[in-house]
Amino acid sequence: MDFPFSAQAGRVIARLEEQGYEAYAVGGCVRDALLGRTPHDWDIATSALPEETARCFADCRVLETGARHGTVTVLLDGEACEVTTYRVEAGYTDGRRPDQVKFVRRLEDDLARRDFTINAMAYHPVRGLVDLFGGRADLDAGRIRCVGEARRRFQEDGLRILRGLRFAAAYGFIIEEATARAMREERERLHLIAAERVNVEFRRLLTGRDAPRILREFAPVFGVFLPEIRSMWGFEQRNPHHCWDVWEHTLRALESAGSDFLVRAAVLFHDSGKPSTYTQDGAGIGHFYGHPAVSERLADEALRRLKFDTDTRKRIVRLVKYHDVSIDNQPGCVRRWLNRLGEEDFRRLLQIKRADTLAQAPLYQPPRLELLAGLEGTLQTVLAQQDCFRLRDLAVNGRDVLAAGIPSGPAVGEALRYLLDGVIDGRFPNERAALAGALESWKGDNEGRGYSRPPVGR
Ligand code: ATP
Ligand code: MG
Repeated sequence: MDFPFSAQAGRVIARLEEQGYEAYAVGGCVRDALLGRTPHDWDIATSALPEETARCFADCRVLETGARHGTVTVLLDGEACEVTTYRVEAGYTDGRRPDQVKFVRRLEDDLARRDFTINAMAYHPVRGLVDLFGGRADLDAGRIRCVGEARRRFQEDGLRILRGLRFAAAYGFIIEEATARAMREERERLHLIAAERVNVEFRRLLTGRDAPRILREFAPVFGVFLPEIRSMWGFEQRNPHHCWDVWEHTLRALESAGSDFLVRAAVLFHDSGKPSTYTQDGAGIGHFYGHPAVSERLADEALRRLKFDTDTRKRIVRLVKYHDVSIDNQPGCVRRWLNRLGEEDFRRLLQIKRADTLAQAPLYQPPRLELLAGLEGTLQTVLAQQDCFRLRDLAVNGRDVLAAGIPSGPAVGEALRYLLDGVIDGRFPNERAALAGALESWKGDNEGRGYSRPPVGR
């Protein structure tokens, strides 16, 4: 078998076995290597107890990273390798973590406690693959299947439901029938799982290539920890611009959204405010006035609950908020949006709008796609010309403003903002002389009002 084994993992295993213990590479690294992907780390499982492992590597740095659970980190030749004692877990009374772990001496027992067959294989550089549960066949067939009885495994730890869905989304795998049924039956178990653990899996799941399919097939599972999506299911739009219900529209938009997490998360929530803002006009046409603001609030609530970091949450929420704004294809308008969102997030906004459009009624797509293509072109030009759209691009700075006689304090920022707005809108060029002139007129307009910002009509 062609197996891209890590030399360092091989040395760790050899060292343990010289001392009379047994050791294997296990879990995710074996799965990834068989898939032809480079494993991001090599986990070693061994019959040695943590203190015995530490003794085997007495000449190396050994960190007691999780000795209670049997894991020590060995630093061999400058590389870190996690070595975990064979163990079984017992008594999952709370449905999320074992009451105790018990160290064992047999590899079979350690493999049997693992979640999915594809994650329950071991590899030894001499003895080869240990595959007791048909993991290899499931990998080849592209199938996620629990080790043992699926329902019981999800009752032990509800996070496994989401892990299974994550692997299916990431690898484009199907979920074996009994496992799929148990995921749906035991979905409420996800309520017991700490938000931080759900967060990690959900984030990876959503960026998986098959995330839309998994969201479609397992919507009720996601509804457990994302109640915000439930009202979208089957919600008819009754509007000529739309040919799908809100949820199906969302899934189709996701299919065209690329794999960036912020884009995908924003698309997932972008229309969540539609059901609660629905109105019907006299002709029986459905409208959703103000839905972006409601979607924005729902996204914010969901992301807070799932303990996303503030920056990530705010950026997703902002993309949701603006997903439906109309943006003119004018350099000034593009610069204004670049100023507001920065280049990365403005590109994301265009991506979201494109995905949104591609999931609408085909008849209305061409002009919208054309506008978006035009905006991309203008964006390229604005960036290539190095147009000014940020304070730091401005040809003058705070010192220049002070030198022009503006007193230090809030007036400096207001004057700079006035100049930047003018440059963004194309009212004056980004040149020192022109800006000095503009500053003089701003001073004139504001002298009597203590240099406060003039009301800009926009
Ligand atoms: P990746 O590291 O790519 O996310 P992984 O499968 O390696 O995937 P880890 O969280 O690193 O995931 O776990 C390592 C191994 O431990 C898994 O392959 C699996 O055998 C086992 N494992 C992890 N979490 C669970 C769990 N909740 N229940 C049972 N076994 C688990
Ligand atoms: Mg891993």
